[in-house]
Amino acid sequence: MHFSKNVTQVQPSATLALSSKAKAKKALGLDVIDLSIGQPDFETPENIESAAIAAIKAGRVSGYTSASGLPELKQAVIDKIKSIYGVTYQQSQVLITTGAKFALYAAFQVLLNAGDEVLIPTPAWVSYVEQVKLAGGKPVAVNSLAGNFKVTVDELEAARTSKTKAVIINSPQNPTGTIYDQEDLTQIGNWAVKNDITIISDDIYNQLTYNHAESSALINISEAIREHTLLIHGLSKSYSMTGWRIGFALGPQRLIKVMSILAGHATGNPATVSQYAAIEALTGPQTSVEQMRSEFEERLNTIYPMVQALPGFELTEKPQGAFYLFPEVKNAVQMTGFDTTEAFCDELLEQKFVAVVPGRSFGMPDHLRISYAANLDDIVEGIDRINAFITGRA
Ligand code: PLP
Repeated sequence: MHFSKNVTQVQPSATLALSSKAKAKKALGLDVIDLSIGQPDFETPENIESAAIAAIKAGRVSGYTSASGLPELKQAVIDKIKSIYGVTYQQSQVLITTGAKFALYAAFQVLLNAGDEVLIPTPAWVSYVEQVKLAGGKPVAVNSLAGNFKVTVDELEAARTSKTKAVIINSPQNPTGTIYDQEDLTQIGNWAVKNDITIISDDIYNQLTYNHAESSALINISEAIREHTLLIHGLSKSYSMTGWRIGFALGPQRLIKVMSILAGHATGNPATVSQYAAIEALTGPQTSVEQMRSEFEERLNTIYPMVQALPGFELTEKPQGAFYLFPEVKNAVQMTGFDTTEAFCDELLEQKFVAVVPGRSFGMPDHLRISYAANLDDIVEGIDRINAFITGRA
């Protein structure tokens, strides 16, 4: 059997691999604290579950919907986007997808030819690089020289070639929690317009911001920038609906049209029952969304100083959004006698049953990612164990 060139270059998801290891240990009855996964630890809000059950009982979910999604859901997405960003899209500019992950996958498939380049501000979420490779494209990591995890136009321009087709802006950013402000986005947006580069704006953590930080957006800066931007959003993170697999893409009609054709052949419609649940999520009461957000904020404020104080951990910028910390741990790795962050993380899981993700798959091998999408007592216990692990070996 022979596999395609695109697929043989692809690495499995490091976050999924680690959380499977943690799950396997848990299944053996071990007291594992899993700080590896980007999945809110809350139940999906009750009104959303009830709406899904009601849709099942009413006999509305057994069939396909249009591959691009239910018109009522598209409208709910349009209304929500208008309320957040003040921008109105038409239904022909919206695609409902099987998670934001598939929206991104479809975007790279339709935008890239073999060898086309995508600029990826790094560190970056693990799947961007692999999805670009799956589309035959070339991921180009762009590091922020200021070390603040925000790339500038000058850094993007230095990486631009005649093959650059797209740039990904993820704000708030996974794994750092960094937010690009309006001024940053205006400069990047104008640069993209000038060079005819498509901006993939992954706003999935847009509603998860803390301590009065606010997300800015590209789509409401100017008509020209909006015409060059594909907005990616979804329900997984702010509605605690990872398992329902609902994401959205909003953008220029001609781009959404080809992505819809691709989705029609690749996945068909996202699960019909999930689409009914999504309508309730977007149009029903939003109190639980705020409750979850404020709980994440409390966790961040509690654990940020604790992680900063861990021996050999460097964490200067306090995250403003998402639910991760991304400390540099080079000194901790050295102090404990390991050669790599991967070896440090492996042994931490083996000895102290704490799962965190090494930074290499986010593009920064001297960092690691701690997710605070777990209950606060567990996170605090996890950090205590990391402390004991380091001091026990140093
Ligand atoms: N984008 C980012 C930055 C993410 O962190 C994730 C999930 O971890 C996704 C997109 C995909 O989310 P989903 O497919 O669950 O909607």
